[in-house]
Amino acid sequence: MSLSPSVELNLALLGQREESDQPQKPVCSHCRSSEVMFSATAYWDAEKQQFVHHVVRDLIYCIECEEKHRPDWIPA
Ligand SMILES: [Zn+2]
Repeated sequence: MSLSPSVELNLALLGQREESDQPQKPVCSHCRSSEVMFSATAYWDAEKQQFVHHVVRDLIYCIECEEKHRPDWIPA
């Protein structure tokens, strides 16, 4: 399966964050709430016999704002 450019970008961002030793957490860039949700899509990997998820890391749904915003990543 070929990945879309946006998925490859997200995987690159994921790799950068995993290199950091600092625990981080996402907060809403608008109201600083940590009550945020990420969107994810999944496809079925027939070899692994399990779902593989791609999380959209550059956009969150903020429960406080009830809107979509960009996340800020802060020390956890
Ligand atoms: Zn918010």
